[in-house]
Amino acid sequence: AKELGKNRFYFFNPVLDNMAIERLKLHNDLFEALDNNEFFLLFQPKISATDNSLAGVEVLLRWRHPKRGILTPDTFIGIAEQNGLILRITHWVLEESCKALKQWQRIGWDGIFAAVNVTAVDINDTYFIRDLLDLFSEYNLNPDLLELELTERIIVESSTDNIETIKSLCDAGIKIAIDDFGTGYSTFTYLQSFQVDTIKIDKSFIDEIEFNAKTAVIVKTMTELGHALGMKVVIEGVEKEGQVQLLKRMKCDIFQGYYFDKPMTAGALVAKYFVRDQI
Ligand code: C2E
Ligand code: CA
Ligand code: CA
Ligand code: CA
Repeated sequence: AKELGKNRFYFFNPVLDNMAIERLKLHNDLFEALDNNEFFLLFQPKISATDNSLAGVEVLLRWRHPKRGILTPDTFIGIAEQNGLILRITHWVLEESCKALKQWQRIGWDGIFAAVNVTAVDINDTYFIRDLLDLFSEYNLNPDLLELELTERIIVESSTDNIETIKSLCDAGIKIAIDDFGTGYSTFTYLQSFQVDTIKIDKSFIDEIEFNAKTAVIVKTMTELGHALGMKVVIEGVEKEGQVQLLKRMKCDIFQGYYFDKPMTAGALVAKYFVRDQI
């Protein structure tokens, strides 16, 4: 079947609309992407609101597609979740993140931590925790250098088994961040079940914060809730000076956004934040 090439679904399913065809092509290409080394990572700095120091980085995946150029995860993570490849992709991201952390330790850069995005499929996988802990021992890294970013949706839709998995992750010393906090679900039930380290307030709020007094109240209240529960509050998608000023007054802890930095290569990160601090 391989000789038929990557367009085989196109010929056999002429009624598919263009979007479905695109997805099928990407589905086929994804199988080769890992073997052909087409993935790479970028790192986006998280900046401390109090002193502008580097508080950590979010690891962001990119796919250098042979024909389409560089693709962001929104175009392919959903497909990878459906065809199961996400497990191998997440493993790859976690291992490359360990390599980066190890490399930074080697040059004398300690205390920098990395946050990796994981999906419901990953959390559902029986071997996820074991695999993760194996990586830490293989690379001789402390689990508290890594934070897992889980969307609020994953947690709210999770079975009790998944909540148990998340608890075990916490027990192993791995930090948990709730991504896209405040979007779509308004339940705080899960916040009672395990210790969440960080909430990341979604960019959609930040976009509005200067123009809508209600949005500002919501963000301020979410921040107070986070602090009262012992969590750090990260603001995502900060793009403007005015937002920074407003959010500082609300006592948010950490900023992540284009105002400070776009996602960058490991080399650029080291040059800007490690080398700078050495001088
Ligand atoms: P996310 O977790 O909400 O990540 C933040 C996204 O917002 C990133 O997009 C980042 O580049 C972008 N961003 C950061 N600051 C700004 C800003 O100031 N303005 C604007 N307009 N955008 C900003 P990216 O890298 O395209 O990632 C999109 C989504 O893909 C992520 O959303 C995350 O859910 C997912 N993702 C990224 N890397 C991975 C990965 O390794 N594994 C999995 N499973 N998902 C990933
Ligand atoms: Ca994230
Ligand atoms: Ca997010
Ligand atoms: Ca978001």
